Amino acid sequence: MPLYDFRCEECGREFTVLVGIEERHKVACPHCESRRVKQLITPCAVQVKGGGGSCGGTSTAGAGGG
Ligand SMILES: [Zn+2]
Repeated sequence: MPLYDFRCEECGREFTVLVGIEERHKVACPHCESRRVKQLITPCAVQVKGGGGSCGGTSTAGAGGG
């Protein structure tokens, strides 16, 4: 099963879960257990027509505190 990125609309945290296509609607936030999560579309997953797109780079994560 592929990995999907989600963002919780309750606490605003982003997390990645391993779920199937039909189970994406059952994803809950691991931090606050909220069901109000939105799937994030990774730019790398989008097929760029015409080419010339470079995927990759520095990904900052874990910044900030709360
Ligand atoms: Zn949450």
